[in-house]
Amino acid sequence: MLKKAGLVLLLLILLLLLLPALIVKSCGGKTLPDAKGDPYQVTVWNHKTQELMRLPLGEYLAGVVAAEMPASFDLEALKAQAIVARTYTVAKIRAAGGAGCSAHPEADICTNSAHCQAWVSKEEATGNWPFFRQRSYWRKILRAVAETESQVVTYEGKMIDAVYHSTCGGSTENCEDVWTNPLPYLRSVQCGYCASSPRYTETLSLGAAQVAEKLGVPPEELKLTVLESTPGGRIIKVSTGKETLRGLEFRQKLGLRSAKVTWLMGKDGYSFTSVGYGHGVGLCQYGADGMARQGYLAEDIIKKYYTGVVVSRVKLGE
Ligand SMILES: [Zn+2]
Ligand SMILES: [Zn+2]
Repeated sequence: MLKKAGLVLLLLILLLLLLPALIVKSCGGKTLPDAKGDPYQVTVWNHKTQELMRLPLGEYLAGVVAAEMPASFDLEALKAQAIVARTYTVAKIRAAGGAGCSAHPEADICTNSAHCQAWVSKEEATGNWPFFRQRSYWRKILRAVAETESQVVTYEGKMIDAVYHSTCGGSTENCEDVWTNPLPYLRSVQCGYCASSPRYTETLSLGAAQVAEKLGVPPEELKLTVLESTPGGRIIKVSTGKETLRGLEFRQKLGLRSAKVTWLMGKDGYSFTSVGYGHGVGLCQYGADGMARQGYLAEDIIKKYYTGVVVSRVKLGE
């Protein structure tokens, strides 16, 4: 009896000694998906540190996905974002025939989101997450990149201009209604998947004098009139009383989240209610997460928001 108890005790001690090693092994570096799977190097201008970085494509893409989409999103949404980011990046890589970053000729791409594509280092990304999520979120992002290795979005054999935005607010737009040049794969589609986005709607109140100032109109001339809008409700052209602006300019000047906007005029000024967040063209990120949570895969998501495209594989470095 005593012998048996001793044996159990010995086993327990052994287990206690081995347990930390087992835990480390199950979530340590060895089991991480390989984000360096994309066998290609990208030269990146880091606009924050003012340094030129040379990174394996997969490692770079992980930083883009972390910067462009909340890591709490479903894996398939993150995979769609990884494919879209890879498409944008590969189209820029000079060694693959791309144009590079026009602001930094020595780089393929820069980390300035207003110019090329946002990117964060692993340290920056994980620093923004709750401590207990840091490891699992980063692993999820690496997995999204690794599981989509070498996948890009093409239309008639050519890589697309894979634009995206946060929340479309019910429908996306034809690209020529937001910018000027029509593209066959950037068509308006209905989106019933982003309604739970925290950025679905916003109300902004501005005094009449503020509105006049932001729009550069003398207060006595200010008279807002929508001249043209899309079936989905985004302003294409609006008159300020002094000049005609495109929806995008109007939105930027007033600091509105979207050009899908209506307003009420009261004694104290204007109350603007915008629906959606961003330009509304291409992939709707919150819609992508909504679709993923209903069981759709990354490829389904991409085909929903980009009309007539296919997800194909690029052969890099050959
Ligand atoms: Zn750039
Ligand atoms: Zn949407």
